[in-house]
Amino acid sequence: MTRSNVSRSSRSKVGGKASGEPCSCCGIARDPNGRPFSITFDVPDVYLEIHPELLATWGDDPFLAIKDTGFYLRVLLPVKLNDGFAVDFGTWLKVDPEVFRQAWRTWNFPEYKDLTFDGLLANRIEPWKPTLRTRVTARVRDVDQVPYIVESTDLLGKRIVADIWPHAEVLAPYKDLLKSDAPIES
Ligand SMILES: [Zn+2]
Repeated sequence: MTRSNVSRSSRSKVGGKASGEPCSCCGIARDPNGRPFSITFDVPDVYLEIHPELLATWGDDPFLAIKDTGFYLRVLLPVKLNDGFAVDFGTWLKVDPEVFRQAWRTWNFPEYKDLTFDGLLANRIEPWKPTLRTRVTARVRDVDQVPYIVESTDLLGKRIVADIWPHAEVLAPYKDLLKSDAPIES
């Protein structure tokens, strides 16, 4: 994972000084309201692997087409963690062109609520580091949100979506992001 590709999402109210006690095993404090952490990948990993001079794209977040590489849609991957933690990864799926077009057409229309599609996980999300072979299914849960990854027929994908994971193992790679204090605080 490239560190610069990952950030705390600004879609909802997160961050600020932790109000809860940090967990004794990992030092990370739960969200006081029990909300999942948001960890967001800004672009599909391949975007950072292409030399900038060769990079040709169409669109932006949440619709990104990369020349000679493929079509990508932004989705949310909710992961269940033990001990009252949870995390929503903001990530990208590589999708077929027809899926990309259908999402583009329906995104701001009533039909969006019925949008469902398959795609390949396009970020090497730690700790699983899926390669571009993990096929998952995304579906709209809330018309004001991007689609959620809800299931997978892939062995690894199914485990990521359905299992309850040890929070310390999943959150460890993002520890600095989750514990970061404001620079003004001494
Ligand atoms: Zn812990």
